[in-house]
Amino acid sequence: MRLTGSVGRKLGVLISSALIVTFVLTAVWFDDLAHRNLDKFLHQQARMLYQQIVLTRSWNASYGGVYVRKQPGMETNRYLYEVGPGHGEKSTVVPEITDTNGNVYTLKNPALMSRELSELTAKNADIRFHLTSLKTINPNNAPDDFEMRSLKKFESGLKEASEFSYQEGKNYYRFMAPLYVEQSCLRCHGFQDYKIGEVRGGISLTLPMDNELELLKAGSDRFITTAVILLALVIGIIILGSYYVVTRPLRILQRFANNMGTQQQLPDYLISRRDEVGLLARELTSANTELLVYHEQISERTTQLEYDNRTDPLTGLCNRRHLFSEGGRLYERWRYDGTRIAVLMIDIDHFKRINDKYGHQVGDGVLAETARVVKQQCRPNDLVARYGGEEFVVMLEAPSPGSGVSTARRILQSIIENPINLEQGELHVTASIGVAEGDNLGDFDSALRKADEALYQAKDSGRNRVATYNKSES
Ligand code: GH3
Ligand code: MG
Ligand code: MG
Repeated sequence: MRLTGSVGRKLGVLISSALIVTFVLTAVWFDDLAHRNLDKFLHQQARMLYQQIVLTRSWNASYGGVYVRKQPGMETNRYLYEVGPGHGEKSTVVPEITDTNGNVYTLKNPALMSRELSELTAKNADIRFHLTSLKTINPNNAPDDFEMRSLKKFESGLKEASEFSYQEGKNYYRFMAPLYVEQSCLRCHGFQDYKIGEVRGGISLTLPMDNELELLKAGSDRFITTAVILLALVIGIIILGSYYVVTRPLRILQRFANNMGTQQQLPDYLISRRDEVGLLARELTSANTELLVYHEQISERTTQLEYDNRTDPLTGLCNRRHLFSEGGRLYERWRYDGTRIAVLMIDIDHFKRINDKYGHQVGDGVLAETARVVKQQCRPNDLVARYGGEEFVVMLEAPSPGSGVSTARRILQSIIENPINLEQGELHVTASIGVAEGDNLGDFDSALRKADEALYQAKDSGRNRVATYNKSES
């Protein structure tokens, strides 16, 4: 089956994904933390400023306002003429005074002072603060959206409010805290029905935060760049590592498993690994060794079985089965090649008598010895087989006419000259041989039949002789 994936790659992708997710979550968390810290920092700054302003206002209020020398173009706060400690009550506030030298002084009450300070601050630092309430006397001090919302919240008990805001292309941090009615307030604001301790209004602060945001962004950019480089490096190491630690060893093991039962070896570094891969490598190696041994045993056994299958156990000659299978094939090949063939059918004379007289064991010995003698007289390429009980067939190449007969005579002579040594003395054995040779033998069966017929003639004409098949084929 074609592989469409790799364990190493999957592992690499898994770990890398986990790392990327961790990195993204860390980056998000880090960014959130940085923003929360910035929020806290700006909140602290705003609170300090607020306290500073409240302190300055308290200072001013504690004197019931502060008179300053009226400069050219400076106007006296006209709203001071409208205030009073209660409805219809005349105010004790004197908005403008002139000294004995004719110098005019104008009253800077806390609200006016706050506004002027706010304008000064805005001019110098883009930091704005605004004194406002739900009931402003000066319409310039009317609350904006954020202030309105915050003031309402203060009335229900909230002590501080803040938000990020985006105005005219810039980012700001807005903070607001309430101002409570004190005794000193009532001198002017009494007519507005305020009670001591009530929320009279609040001071809102607007702090520019673009610089801080830029710093934050630069920090997070640096963090992301460094982390991405590190991440790429780590992922590279993971990919390489998973290839060398997992994918490559598995492929080597797979190739090894594919060629099990052959002479092969796994690299030492795999076998000596102390993990699952090493374990598998050792298991496969020992399985391969066992398989090699089995193969060797099977091949020995097969060779033996093949030998047994084609060999006659008593004589060691080819058996009848082999004669008809391989012998038949060899005969046809020779015939196809135009080789002249001779088929000899050999039968021991009066073998039954030997059996009867000396017993079957001696009979077997005679068979084995006769087979040895026959085989001895043949060439390696000749096929010598035990055809039946005491019958043998020799198939040989007989290039010249009569060479089959002369081989038969040689065999017969050798049988006669090799008596069997028995306890009782020498046992002379003879045989009759039928020979079929020439160009018209026909197929293998017909050649055997002809040799058999010739053998019959040899027996019939007195045994211990060679007879040739000489009938013409009908
Ligand atoms: P002939 O000269 O006509 O061939 O006579 P014969 O006695 O040789 O032939 P026959 O066919 O009458 O007897 C063959 C005997 O061979 C009969 C059988 O018991 C014996 N025989 C066959 N196979 C074996 C064997 O494997 N071992 C032994 N000891 N005897 C066998
Ligand atoms: Mg016989
Ligand atoms: Mg016989």
